[in-house]
Amino acid sequence: MKIFLTGFITLVLSLPVYAAVEEVNIYSARKEQLIKPILDRFEKQSGIKVNLITGKADALLKRIETEGTNTPADILITTDAGRLHRAKTAMVLQPAITPDIEKIVPSNLQDPDHYWIGLTTRSRIIVYAKDRVKPSELSTYEALSDPKWKKRLCIRSSNNIYNQSLVASMIVHKGEQSTEDWAKGLVKNFARKPKGGDRDQIKAVAAGQCDIAVVNTYYLAQMLNGKDSTQKKAAEQVAVFWPNQNDRGAHINISGIAITKASKNKENALKLIRYLLSPEAQTWYAEANNEYPVIKEATLSKTLKSWGQFHSDSLNLKELGEYNSQAVRIMDRAGWR
Ligand code: FE
Repeated sequence: MKIFLTGFITLVLSLPVYAAVEEVNIYSARKEQLIKPILDRFEKQSGIKVNLITGKADALLKRIETEGTNTPADILITTDAGRLHRAKTAMVLQPAITPDIEKIVPSNLQDPDHYWIGLTTRSRIIVYAKDRVKPSELSTYEALSDPKWKKRLCIRSSNNIYNQSLVASMIVHKGEQSTEDWAKGLVKNFARKPKGGDRDQIKAVAAGQCDIAVVNTYYLAQMLNGKDSTQKKAAEQVAVFWPNQNDRGAHINISGIAITKASKNKENALKLIRYLLSPEAQTWYAEANNEYPVIKEATLSKTLKSWGQFHSDSLNLKELGEYNSQAVRIMDRAGWR
């Protein structure tokens, strides 16, 4: 009997060795083609199987919340620090980012409580019609509320997180009251009721519906580098203006990564994060997404290089999440729809 039992226990103990497949499960708000190739490379190098589910950012967060402890997701990849902060406050993440990883990335691009970390950055810039606006007429986000831009500005709606995060940064730097005054002035300068995404604002400038717009850098880069010749033509009619270069710098945000509270493959998740921050992965991922890498060793894409260096706001991006609801209220009061 004893021999049988020992044999049985040995068998049971050794079972997982044969059965366990090293894996990591990702919920990603990035489109499959913009992330899959680099995950395949990780899979090959590490022997860890990567299971990828892609979807819309808000839907994926909802899904993790609904699935609770049963969620297969080990990792959430999404854009905008405001959204990562939402996931943190929804209690679906864990403070698992380790010091060796945090050392790689500038401290303002990560959560001080270790819940999430940036993989790439983008800036929310001003673009202007090359034929109607001189760059010397532009200066700061604040100056976009100047009456000289009356009915000349295109920007998407206030329910978009990118604008919420921009307004949140204004609150941190300028205070609530002056941000509200600014937002009211900005709304007066809208050339039309906000509609469409950032690409549509660029198209509207090209079509002469407005003279300036506020957009994320990668949309312009995508339009310039994409296959759609109409989009390319539109993008070529605008130029980049880096706001606030003489003070706090241009507003930036991230695409980032976090480990879920219910993760069953935390070590593998950490290995993947380390890989995504390697020079090889950073160069590929940033270029594929037309974004800026978070490490200096990675190479910039040709388009981004052509826009030159810029001074960026060093605000810790968790503030964008913390001031999100105040930002939404201000935009609401200002009539920004
Ligand atoms: Fe986007």
